[in-house]
Amino acid sequence: MYATPLPDAMRAGDEICWVNPLCGEPGPLPYADAEILDAEARLRRFAPLIKLLFPETAPENGLIESPLSEIPAMRQTLQAMGVNVPGRLFLKRDCDLPVAGSVKARGGIYEVLKHTEDLALANGLLQDTEDDYRGLTSPEARAFFGRYKMQVGSTGNLGMSIGIMSAALGYEATVHMSADAKAWKKALLREKGVTVAEYDGDYAKAVENGRKLSEADPNSYFVDDENSKELFLGYATAALRLKDQLSAQNIRIDAAHPLYVYIPCGVGGAPGGIAYGMKRVFGEHAHCFFAEPTQAPCVTLGLITGLHNRISVQDIGLTGKTNADGLAVGRCSGLVCRAIERLVNGCATVKDERLPVYQKALWQSEGVFIEPSSAAAFHALPMGKDAPESAVHIVWATGGRLVPDDIRTIELNMKNE
Ligand SMILES: *Cc1c(COP(=O)(O)O)cnc(C)c1O
Repeated sequence: MYATPLPDAMRAGDEICWVNPLCGEPGPLPYADAEILDAEARLRRFAPLIKLLFPETAPENGLIESPLSEIPAMRQTLQAMGVNVPGRLFLKRDCDLPVAGSVKARGGIYEVLKHTEDLALANGLLQDTEDDYRGLTSPEARAFFGRYKMQVGSTGNLGMSIGIMSAALGYEATVHMSADAKAWKKALLREKGVTVAEYDGDYAKAVENGRKLSEADPNSYFVDDENSKELFLGYATAALRLKDQLSAQNIRIDAAHPLYVYIPCGVGGAPGGIAYGMKRVFGEHAHCFFAEPTQAPCVTLGLITGLHNRISVQDIGLTGKTNADGLAVGRCSGLVCRAIERLVNGCATVKDERLPVYQKALWQSEGVFIEPSSAAAFHALPMGKDAPESAVHIVWATGGRLVPDDIRTIELNMKNE
């Protein structure tokens, strides 16, 4: 019935490692390299405006970027836990991304800026793309954007990136939050003047409702996490930035020095876009692995079965529930699955109880705080165990910066199960 038989362990809610048999097969590429470069150029056009609105981005001149840090102490801790990969181990610290505090700052903020540029060019607020984009912060421009609405369905972090950037530009913003969203994320958004609509159901329901409400309003724009090219391209620009960061540390990626990247996965957009960019920039020398919760492995399921978004985790008896709120998605993005089905090397699923173990280990060894969702990536590391000693491994930390102190304290002091 399915392209590959579904592992029994997956149905049972146990952990699996799955190597993608389609990886490396030839096939059409949905996006041209020029489209990724175009997205990067757009982010650079907006950089002076970002710097003005968010002074925290001044050190990077208005580019929203995070450090790439080697984590030798965490490597030792992992070794003691029995997790060992040959080569150097790095952390891509999107947990510390300015403005939105998670990887969603890449795709989510990019899509808000793209729509803003489209509106501004069509309505004479910008003459052309050479204009000074800081003009878009004038009272007149803000009043103009105030007549438009931004809406999004979210498990939390996408809503924060869209809500924070939309509110900063003057839009009316509504975030449709699934039941999994953490209370502090809703509170933070309301503080910023964003309307938060709450749903009893899961992520798909929040998206569906938000999409419907937005379609009924001609002045409303919906950021559709299940089906967005712009989000995807925004995430893909991460690879261009990473290439520069590796060069700055004198690290070459080639046949003798392969790159292994491990990324937590929800609906698929962030890891999919990043992996797509990696393969375009580093070719076959980049190996990309996704990590998902055992109860919400929607991308792994979509890829194994070949059914993509035509199957949900509930269809195989899983709950879709996880404490990794950013990954609590039962049905993947079809657009993303099509784009990456021959690019992703494999997927690993992880039980919730392991997340605080990795979370605390990183805090204690390196002093870096990450959300439970972020911690999932460490569990995919063993998929790179056959790498050569010359390999570079990057665990993609996807969220953490905006987690309030009291929640951090609770998460870091909870007893491991
Ligand atoms: C959203 C999110 C992810 C995964 O991104 P998707 O686009 O949903 O696959 C990973 N980590 C964190 C912290 C997130 O918020």
